[in-house]
Order: sequence, then structure tokens, then C-alpha cells
Amino acid sequence: MPRRLPSSFRRRLRRLFPDDRLVTDPALLRAYECDALTHFRSPPLAVAFPETTGEVQETVRAAVAAGVPLTARGAGTCLSGGAIAADGGILLETSRMRRILEIDAENRRARVQPGVVNARLSRAAAPFGLLYAPDPSSQTVSTIGGNVAENAGGPHCLAQGVTSQHVLAVEIVTGTGERVTLGSPLEETEELDLRGLFIGSEGTLGIATEITCRLVPRPESVETLLASYGSLPDACRAVARVIAAGIVPSALEVLDERTIRAVEGEKGEAGYPLDAAAVLLVEVDGPEARVASEARAVEEHLAKERPLRVERAVDDAHRARLWKGRKGAFGAMGRQAPDLYLQDAVVPRSRLPEVIEAISAICTRHEVTVANVFHAGDGNLHPILCYDSRHPGELERVLAASAEIVRVCLEAGGTLSGEHGIGIEKRDHMPELLGAQELRAMGHVRSAFDPTGLMNPGKLLPTPGACAELRAAGRGAR
Ligand SMILES: Cc1cc2nc3c(=O)[nH]c(=O)nc-3n(C[C@H](O)[C@H](O)[C@H](O)COP(=O)(O)OP(=O)(O)OC[C@H]3O[C@@H](n4cnc5c(N)ncnc54)[C@H](O)[C@@H]3O)c2cc1C
Repeated sequence: MPRRLPSSFRRRLRRLFPDDRLVTDPALLRAYECDALTHFRSPPLAVAFPETTGEVQETVRAAVAAGVPLTARGAGTCLSGGAIAADGGILLETSRMRRILEIDAENRRARVQPGVVNARLSRAAAPFGLLYAPDPSSQTVSTIGGNVAENAGGPHCLAQGVTSQHVLAVEIVTGTGERVTLGSPLEETEELDLRGLFIGSEGTLGIATEITCRLVPRPESVETLLASYGSLPDACRAVARVIAAGIVPSALEVLDERTIRAVEGEKGEAGYPLDAAAVLLVEVDGPEARVASEARAVEEHLAKERPLRVERAVDDAHRARLWKGRKGAFGAMGRQAPDLYLQDAVVPRSRLPEVIEAISAICTRHEVTVANVFHAGDGNLHPILCYDSRHPGELERVLAASAEIVRVCLEAGGTLSGEHGIGIEKRDHMPELLGAQELRAMGHVRSAFDPTGLMNPGKLLPTPGACAELRAAGRGAR
């Protein structure tokens, strides 16, 4: 791939985008060289900021004509290296495509441009008594377009489902520059589910330019409980008990001792008990009568795993404080170590206690500090590996531990990612999960949408020979 943009393409970009919507200065481009998984770095050769679907189409067509790889980027909070440019490629950043085009309260749906920030959509829907259910912990910054590309989940996705359950239709620009609408605003359709195919495809099938989201009613009643335990496996067993009883809370989140201490810091931010080895945050919501009886039942099940104590949020302010701790956990850990590697894998809920213990043993062996905060209800683990990249060898130890964690999760019947996507990070693990036929079938689908392979190349699928530089970039080059 060329390390300079072909001059004809550069001229084309200049005609398409005014100066304030095109970055080509190498010093400024450094700001875009990584996403939230900072050890993969690859500076783009340009960043363009389209405002319309037409501009996206023109850019894609010009890039294809010039053979330049192109990666869509939302807020860049991706944790798998998916939002960085391929070698010799450019980024299309969607922050200027941030209009909420319509809130159709009667039919409970909204049409948005891809750069709309997740939390903003729920705020805009609130006056209608509605909300957008997927709530990634990054929701105050991450975009709906990025959420669609990663099929994002969040603490409240246990009962409501992840992004794919809340997106009705996506308008995309394919790798040939065509504008295509996948899905339909209607709840039931007979067509081939290309919408489902696109959601979670990490920008490899095209660029989402307009999204029709489902909105759900705000719950009539909410109860939030915090149970603290003397051990992390006890908290995991309490999770299994609640689910086995047939209760599906809206959220079931676990934080371990190290995370609790980080969250509490010096100011006691969330009010989590400092004598606990783990806390379990449980929320039930829905109609008042059901919520009251479910909360009582949850309390009984939590009590069976010998909690140190169980408390209920007494009001909305208390509830918000408990959630602030959970949603700020990654940021709080960021104050404990200069660098973090946040893993993401899913295991069957029943295997959580043993996998958690295995992760702890792996990290001890590699002398890596680990904290755990995870969506326990759906077995979605997030070990946070702490390191200091300035110290020789630390990143390598973290990468070795991380690879072992992935294998332990797969051996436990799990999968590679719950919500952060495959990106570059897990791409080379794909053959451990899928057979050659499955990977080939996915490659065929990809080629149908993107025949030249220029849409976010080197991500998601292990493409022989593609983007070797990106792989090298991940081995410590900073
Ligand atoms: C602190 C923190 C907490 C997080 N918590 C969660 C969580 O609870 N749940 C969760 O699921 N994730 C979480 N994430 C990961 C991340 O926020 C999500 O993956 C999010 O969906 C990424 O959105 P973004 O706008 O930042 O997209 P980016 O990071 O910019 O891009 C992500 C991917 O989407 C592609 N993309 C972006 N826009 C488009 C588009 N318009 N069309 C096609 N492809 C596109 C990019 O090419 C890239 O492959 C967290 C991240 C951080 C840093």
C-alpha cells in the first residue's frame, strides 16, 4: 500500500471537503493513530469529515478508483484496534454527521445520522417517555454508527438485548459507493436479513450513513441492589442462582476488589464497601408490581451465597451513584496504571467462577496486575490488565497473558468477544473459533459488499497477507 496518497486522490479530497473538514497535516494526524486499545498504532494519511451520505459516496468512489483503503471512525472508543487506518489509508470520521433526523414517538423509533452520540439519543427521546436501550459504558461519547459496527452491548442489555435487537434499518454506502438500505422501519419483514449481517461487521461491509433505531418505553419502576461478597467466585455463584431461578434482571454487573478500590479512590465516589472482595450490582425494572416481587426474590437468592451485606438504592440519586461507579470503572482503573489492556470474552455463566480463578492464576504467572469488572449476567468478562509501556517487557507479558485468557475462555465453551469486536486484536484468533469453511463464507459475504477489499482491511477476518504492518504495529511499536 502507498505511504503517500496518490496526488489525484488528494486533489479529489480537497475538492470534496473544505479545509475545516479535512486533516492532512502529519502532526495533527497523530491524534488519530490509535483507538482506545492504544498499543495498535497506524497514522492515517488523511481524515475527512463528511456531513452527508453523498459525500461519503463520493469519497468511497474516489478511494476505490485510487486504490486507497478507507476506515470509518466514530468516537474512536473501539477496544480492538478496529477504528485505525490501514497502512496507506484514510479515515472517514462521522462526528459531523450528528443530526437526529426524526423521533417518531408514535411508532417508537428514531432516525439518526451515524455520528450521533448514544446517550444523546436517549436524552432526545426522554420527553416522549422513551429511550434507546443499548447503553455501552462509553455511551456518553461513543456513536450510534460505531455501536452498530460493533454490535455494542452494555450493562442494561441483559434483558433488552444488544444493538442488533434495537436497530430496524441501516442505510449504508457499500465498497462500490452504492447507497443501500438494509432492513426496514417495520418490525416484521420477509426479506433476507442483510441488516443483521451488517450489524457487527466492524466497517468491513460498508459505512453506515443513517440508522433507524427502535425506542422502548422508560420503565415504570426500577429497583437497584448492591450485594457485597467475601470472594469473587461467591458473587459469580450468586449470579448463577438468580438466573437459574428464572429471573432476568435488566442488569447484573460484578466488580472485584481492585476495581472497587479504584472506583472509590479517595472520595468514596460510589459508596461501594471497601471490605468486599466483590460487589454485585443488580437492577430490575418494569411494571411496579412485578418489580417489587422480583426485587424481593433477587434479594433472597443473593442471600444464599453468604453476602457481607445487601443494600437497595433508596432513591434516584443513590441509584445514579451506584451506576456512576460501574460506568466509570475503566476510567478509575486508568488512574491506577499508565496503560490498560481491557480484554473482552464470553463464557457460559456456569463456568464464571472457575474461569475467573484461571484468569487470576494466568496473571499471577505473568506478573500482571488484573482487575475484573464484567457483565456477569451474560458471562461477558472484562479482565483489565494493567501495565506501564515505558517498562521494557511489560506489554509483552500482558499480551502473553491476554492470549492465554482467550484460550481459557474458548476452552470453557466461550467465544472471542462479547461486545468490543474482533478488530485487529482478535483477528488472528478467529481460526481457533471458526473453521476454514465458515471463514471462507464470511470472506465471500465481505467481497459481495466490498469487491476491492478496501473497506477497513486487516480487521475482523484473517486475510492472508493483508496489512502485515498493522500486525507489526501491535507488537510494541509506539
Ligand atoms: C471506557 C469504555 C467503555 C466501553 N464500554 C463498552 C460497553 O459497555 N459495551 C460495548 O459494547 N463497548 C464498550 N466499549 C467499546 C466501544 O465504546 C464500542 O465498541 C463502541 O461501539 C464504539 O463506538 P465509536 O463511536 O467509538 O466507534 P469507533 O471506535 O470509532 O469505531 C468502532 C468500529 O466501528 C467502525 N465504524 C464506526 N463508525 C462506522 C460507520 N458509520 N459505519 C461503519 N462502520 C463504522 C469503525 O471502522 C471501527 O471498526 C467501551 C470503550 C471504552 C473506552
